[in-house]
Amino acid sequence: MKFFLAGKWQDREDRIEVINPGTGEVIDSVPRATMADVELALQTAEQATVTMAGMTGYERFRILRRAADLLLERRDELAKILSQEEGKAIREARSEVERSVHTLELSGEEAKRLCGEVLPLDGGIGVRNKLGFTLRVPCGVVAAITPFNYPLNLVCHKIGPALAAGNSVVLKPASDTPLVALKLVEVLLEAGLPDTAISCLTGSGGMIGSAICADRRVRKISFTGSPEVGEQICRVAGMKRVTMELGSNSPLVILPDADLDKVAKVTARQGFVNAGQVCISAQRVIVAEEIHDEFVGKLVSQVEKIVVGDQLQARTEMGPMVRTADAERVQSWVQEAISGGAKLACGGGRNGAFMEPTVLLNANQEMKVVQDEVFGPTVAILKVADIDQAIGLANDTRYGLSAGVFTQDIDAAMRFAREVHSGNVHINWGPLWRTDGMPYGGLKNSGLGKEGPKYAIQEMTETKTIVIH
Ligand code: NAP
Repeated sequence: MKFFLAGKWQDREDRIEVINPGTGEVIDSVPRATMADVELALQTAEQATVTMAGMTGYERFRILRRAADLLLERRDELAKILSQEEGKAIREARSEVERSVHTLELSGEEAKRLCGEVLPLDGGIGVRNKLGFTLRVPCGVVAAITPFNYPLNLVCHKIGPALAAGNSVVLKPASDTPLVALKLVEVLLEAGLPDTAISCLTGSGGMIGSAICADRRVRKISFTGSPEVGEQICRVAGMKRVTMELGSNSPLVILPDADLDKVAKVTARQGFVNAGQVCISAQRVIVAEEIHDEFVGKLVSQVEKIVVGDQLQARTEMGPMVRTADAERVQSWVQEAISGGAKLACGGGRNGAFMEPTVLLNANQEMKVVQDEVFGPTVAILKVADIDQAIGLANDTRYGLSAGVFTQDIDAAMRFAREVHSGNVHINWGPLWRTDGMPYGGLKNSGLGKEGPKYAIQEMTETKTIVIH
């Protein structure tokens, strides 16, 4: 495919291959943008801020509404591209397209609701006969930098609210999964978006992504990706707003009174969706010792049933990881845990980018599979004596994106909700749950700010205070 820059689909001789990680086959290629392309994208976006801010909220709503409909019409085509380039099972790719439709719908609705507030100025000392109110205005140019693992819905979570708020956008999708993002641009243009309001540049994040983030014309950066890259972006960003949706090693705590059949099914799903490449995967499973052995038996029998294979087959439940190198890394972490005393309950093997669904027992805080973000199909089980120890372990991490607890004890559940440092807490469910309208974002090294169109749009607008004297 070509990339979209300054109102035109453009090509460059230097190209990046897009690969199906399951077969190693080259599916397509995209141009590698240069610094001159970045400059043109930023100039265009700056000019387009006037066009975008000049549209009414209703006009922006109509574009996003139409784009959502077009996305739904093209669901099968987009799901296939997404599944091929990312490696996720086709059934998950279809559900990602459906979620993206919803994200655009929610964003469009917010375009109609943007407003300021009347200010109670006369509550101030000596203030009489003044009328004050606020206006919410677009930030201007928004930079959207996205990861490989939800290459459509996470782009919609940035572009939807940014356009709804009247901004222009420069998008840099992940180099492994640029195709579905470029397809989304096609859809937006067909829906009537002014062609200068968005540029989508493909190329190295370290080069063009960083240059976009450092540029003064960008007023807002919305980034989803690894904490390491997030920190690099914050260092170059200077005086601009940033939203950072970063990684995690989410805990799932199982107390003695939990329904173990339900928990085993939920854990088997939440550890292995998208081959574990989800920022809120159930990675650290913290289990009360009384029920540990029974739970492990039930979990392993569920995990062994996961159908691994060609991601495009309807019956496949788990496809390859996005790159062979990532599968090699996960396998090496599993081996490191085993040499540190962990025991393999199932999995551990690998074939190219296909890592087997893996469950490790006797895990501890010294192991990478516990301390770091695995971002692969591996669940580490830790045994605890009581809720105090469970909360202590859940919090013993630099991350804080999502956490789950299974218990029938409302006091224990509420204590967990209050004491676990996490942006999202789920009671009687695991950490991997999100509906696209809710406020979503991490604490600690898991990020800054919130997504979910209603919340993102606040971060993509500025407040102006007006006083009539
Ligand atoms: P990544 O390596 O951090 O890359 C994310 C994006 O940043 C890519 O587009 C990448 O471009 C670009 N990039 C790389 N270096 C850059 C730089 N110096 N300046 C600007 N942009 C740069 O992340 P990933 O491997 O794609 O995704 C996995 C990570 O995303 C995990 O840590 C996961 O937890 C996190 N994630 C978080 C959430 C959330 O909502 N909190 C959701 C999904 C994923 P290239 O591809 O060209 O390198």
